[in-house]
Amino acid sequence: MMFRVSKRIEVAGAHWLDLPYDSACKNMHGHNWIIVVTVQAEELDCTGMVIDFKSLKEIVHKLDHQCINDVVGAEEIINPTAENIAKWIAEEVDNHLSFSNSSARVEQVEVQESEGNKAWYIP
Ligand SMILES: [Zn+2]
Repeated sequence: MMFRVSKRIEVAGAHWLDLPYDSACKNMHGHNWIIVVTVQAEELDCTGMVIDFKSLKEIVHKLDHQCINDVVGAEEIINPTAENIAKWIAEEVDNHLSFSNSSARVEQVEVQESEGNKAWYIP
């Protein structure tokens, strides 16, 4: 038996990528990322939730209207690709779950960077 929730959140922001080859992505540019976070749990928390949808929005919105390089790469230098953004979100949500619902964990994070371009992180 398992409960599963997912939330879709749009984030507007800017980033640039450190690449060892010529690419327009090396210049600062913007995206409207569409992020879907899926969390599952064997047990619900004391409020009857896997995780509050509001908490998921708050975590993902740490990226909203930011330079993503400064947020995802704040502690160590990380190239903010769709893949690394997905991993960062999963780690932030897992951090939150460690005190809100210890039976819950991130199943996957999907990051759509542009029409047709998606990345997933599955912990
Ligand atoms: Zn980009």
